[in-house]
Amino acid sequence: MKAFFSKLLHDTLARVLAALAVAGLALLLPGVRSVLGATLEVPAWVLLVAFLCAGLGLAHVLVGKVVPRHEREYREDEIDGIIWRWRYKDGALSDLRGFCAKAGCDTELMLQAHEGSVESGTRSFRGTTYYCTSCNATKGITNAMDLPDHERRKIEKKIRDGSWKKTAAKI
Ligand SMILES: [Zn+2]
Repeated sequence: MKAFFSKLLHDTLARVLAALAVAGLALLLPGVRSVLGATLEVPAWVLLVAFLCAGLGLAHVLVGKVVPRHEREYREDEIDGIIWRWRYKDGALSDLRGFCAKAGCDTELMLQAHEGSVESGTRSFRGTTYYCTSCNATKGITNAMDLPDHERRKIEKKIRDGSWKKTAAKI
């Protein structure tokens, strides 16, 4: 957030300085100086349009810089018995990590994918197991080979259909 504001300030300052430099150079022209020395009558509607344009320009810059609401409020969710936490990078989910959902534990889980094999007609476990070093417990989710990617799709669906707001309100 701090980096975002310092970048915003830096960009705005650069624009203001550039505008001042252009205005300063323009003052060197005799035509511009004589116009500035004269009293100019401007109809109110011209001023209104000028302010409106300036306001729209400013709003456009601000809207482009503002972070979407879900990126500020939706950074944690409990899915498939695991608490997932993540960050956003350029609008996409990043650093998605799973934590133990047992009350008071909250230890980061160790995930392991198992391909499974078919031996004597019985298929062994295929999916991802998660292990909590604090609870010394292992659980598995079948047929999810890359669990963070599996959950990322669920989280992105919630962001698209807006249902994340209910989850964010609960936390
Ligand atoms: Zn635990």
